[in-house]
Amino acid sequence: MNIDLRSDTVTKPTKGMLQAIIKAPTGDDVYKEDPTVNQLERRFAEMFGMDTALFFPTGSMSNQTAIKLHTQPGDQLICDKWAHVYNYEAGGVAFNSGVTCNLIDGHRGMITASAIEKGISPISNYHTPNTTLVCLENTTNKGGGACYDFEEFKKVRTLCDSFGLGLHLDGARLMNALVAKNEDPNSYGKIFDTISVCLSKGLGTPLGTILLGSNELMARAIRVRKILGGAMRQVGFMAAAGLYALDHHFERLAEDHQKASEIAQTLQKLDYIKKVEPADTNIVIFNLIDEMSKDQFMKDMSENHIQISDMGQGKLRMVTHLDYTDEMHHIVLNVLKNYEY
Ligand SMILES: *Cc1c(COP(=O)(O)O)cnc(C)c1O
Repeated sequence: MNIDLRSDTVTKPTKGMLQAIIKAPTGDDVYKEDPTVNQLERRFAEMFGMDTALFFPTGSMSNQTAIKLHTQPGDQLICDKWAHVYNYEAGGVAFNSGVTCNLIDGHRGMITASAIEKGISPISNYHTPNTTLVCLENTTNKGGGACYDFEEFKKVRTLCDSFGLGLHLDGARLMNALVAKNEDPNSYGKIFDTISVCLSKGLGTPLGTILLGSNELMARAIRVRKILGGAMRQVGFMAAAGLYALDHHFERLAEDHQKASEIAQTLQKLDYIKKVEPADTNIVIFNLIDEMSKDQFMKDMSENHIQISDMGQGKLRMVTHLDYTDEMHHIVLNVLKNYEY
């Protein structure tokens, strides 16, 4: 049995999801004639109380589109130093939008309104780049699935309003935050100009991300999506997986969170572990004690058929998900407890 904890993107569609995919009515979404895509987009827009939702193949394309909407070449966006838009989108901010990033040294991938304010370059200073956008991440990826306190979002919104900045949320794992903190998606719609939500992470679909925003912004987004090569045809098959996931894989995210928290609690007690980040959602990030080799540990785990990720800077990562069963969980906890270095 292979136990893959590298990411929540490794899941395969369940039988029920495959049935939903097979049965989906489809059409050409480039003509906006795919009823299943239209249904999924409407459902997300209603859920978040935003005008329009648009289906994208990936979260990177959706984030990159949002950044393009809010910026001009030469502008600067503000984000945390660990942000996905900066670290894991292949330099797309520069490639696609000609934008630089002002990186804030936040806490577990989260940044405060007051730190952002210090990072805004004054418009009167024509030597400095023009700050036009703030990108937040919830939950944070490299920050170990940490969730923002919603009050901070309100402060950031007020700040963005007073400086005329756009506010984008990279919500690749926003569904995890909604479950973990029992939050209402509608309240997010009131704060952010654009929100990107992945279907291919905890929700367990083969692909797909939703970008949400006002009618005005999304009318431009559909053009950017076309330019980036993301206008797809009978993609209702994948939208059907998204609809199925909203009905069947949303509330169950709590089970992934429970398992991640049990892994973190187990790690905490082990003498070969130096540090474990709090597991607020489905991600566990930890460091081994200095005398141990990370590569050797990963190799030993792999010999026990357990795959984990190296996040750099000494961090190792385990992510729980739909295909990580109770039986696997039991094995993992035992392997960790009995490991001898
Ligand atoms: C996974 C992820 C994305 C999108 O990744 P894709 O692989 O392009 O779908 C964006 N932001 C964060 C924080 C992520 O974890």
